[in-house]
Amino acid sequence: MANDSNKFQAIISHCKEYGFIFPSSEIYDGLQAVYDYGQMGSELKKNIKDYWWKSMTQLQDNIVGIDAAIFMHPTVWKASGHIDNFNDPMIDNKDSNKRYRVDHLIEGFAEEQSAMGNEQLANDVLATMEVMLAKDDFAGLKKLIEDNNIKCAISGTRNWSDIRQFNLMFSTQIGSVAGEEENSIVYLRPETAQGIFVNFLNVQKTGRMKIPFGIAQTGKAFRNEIVARQFIFRMREFEQMEMQFFVRPGTEGEWYQYWKKTRLEWHLSLGFDPAKFRYHDHLKLAHYAKEACDIEFEFPIGFKEVEGIHSRTDFDLKQHQEFSKKKLQYFDNDIDPVTGKPFGNYIPYVVETSIGLDRMFLLVMSSAYEEQDLGTAERADSRVVLKLPNQLAPVKLAILPLVKKDGLPEIAKKIMDDCRSSFRCFYEEKDTIGKRYRRMDAIGTPFCVTVDQQTKEDNTVTIRHRDSMEQERVGIEKIKEIVQASL
Ligand code: ATP
Repeated sequence: MANDSNKFQAIISHCKEYGFIFPSSEIYDGLQAVYDYGQMGSELKKNIKDYWWKSMTQLQDNIVGIDAAIFMHPTVWKASGHIDNFNDPMIDNKDSNKRYRVDHLIEGFAEEQSAMGNEQLANDVLATMEVMLAKDDFAGLKKLIEDNNIKCAISGTRNWSDIRQFNLMFSTQIGSVAGEEENSIVYLRPETAQGIFVNFLNVQKTGRMKIPFGIAQTGKAFRNEIVARQFIFRMREFEQMEMQFFVRPGTEGEWYQYWKKTRLEWHLSLGFDPAKFRYHDHLKLAHYAKEACDIEFEFPIGFKEVEGIHSRTDFDLKQHQEFSKKKLQYFDNDIDPVTGKPFGNYIPYVVETSIGLDRMFLLVMSSAYEEQDLGTAERADSRVVLKLPNQLAPVKLAILPLVKKDGLPEIAKKIMDDCRSSFRCFYEEKDTIGKRYRRMDAIGTPFCVTVDQQTKEDNTVTIRHRDSMEQERVGIEKIKEIVQASL
């Protein structure tokens, strides 16, 4: 269980210092587990979202995207099971009144034990917990906490309440008079998936989609997380990128394996270290799932879920069919080789891929952030560099005139004008060139070009590569090509 809290804190500070992420409403001391993306962060986030969107829609033959509303008819959440089942088991410490998610409390204990070298105990406790969670065995979980002397971090006592379920959905009122009627309650969606299910037939019919096909969407989701810490890893307002793949019943096992593999390949296509990823197959399945796994990444706070792949059966469509009294079926006119007749009408099965955009952002940052000592015997030196995949970097090219005079800014601005419609550029003339390079390293800009006196003579510039810091002399006309080839 690698745990590098210094690195995690350094990333949080870096995100703030360079305009990636700010606490929400910071001048009012922030709002717990809610964050704003700054000028660099919003670009990086958008680039991650675009990369996902393109690979999940444009590069697929049979997946289309939608953009459903956050508010939905309240019965959606009754049908989906969220009103009854979207709970986390919680336990309160009676002395400090602090509430804990049971799995987090036990995982924290296991982490401590493993850090102290008691790996066997840590693994045993985690395995027991998984089995008990799968059976909703709350008395057993409480006993596990007591038997292992797990204490509250605040009061230091073991005075625990019984374990209770806590619903994670936020609600509000729709209409002019709040609270007047019970049916004016609406929920802020806790997942984007239901917007896809309720539009299944709209998209299938208007898009003339033939099974197997997928519907993708990105958008905000809201969960009243009790243990909301760890920066953007666990937020109360966050963004999801989800895809529901509708398949013929009986083929869901193959498609589940296909998407499990394909989604891991997507992560690796960004050049991240494969050793930092692993699958975690679920023992405790959500109320709708047949098979489920997480793709976990080794964050500085340990291996944690970044994406879930779930075989959701026909649960959701069936429930919506029952609650809405509208048929949500598909007519499959392909021939069944067994009967020699068309497969006919059925409710499709669904395999879902669901990734948190903010968690992906944290993954990208965790893997890109590097502190390097560049000191020599003569002189101390260091830099912080974000080795971002070039496709995701907020700025692709910095254009830097060596000095603010002699016509160099004019040449630099001309390069800027030539490149800015193709990719995002940044122009800067303040400070020494060394300081400007460091600032670009810190926001992950893959290329810097410097315009100097020689440029005036032979139309060449130096182009500096972020990761190697190597510089080469190239003709101005080559700049755009070099940057584009790397994206
Ligand atoms: P966890 O076990 O961490 O609470 P989950 O299994 O409830 O997550 P899912 O319902 O499968 O998560 O949601 C799919 C994805 O949405 C997760 O893999 C994660 O990347 C993201 N996600 C879920 N909850 C949050 C949150 N509170 N903050 C940020 N991202 C989240």
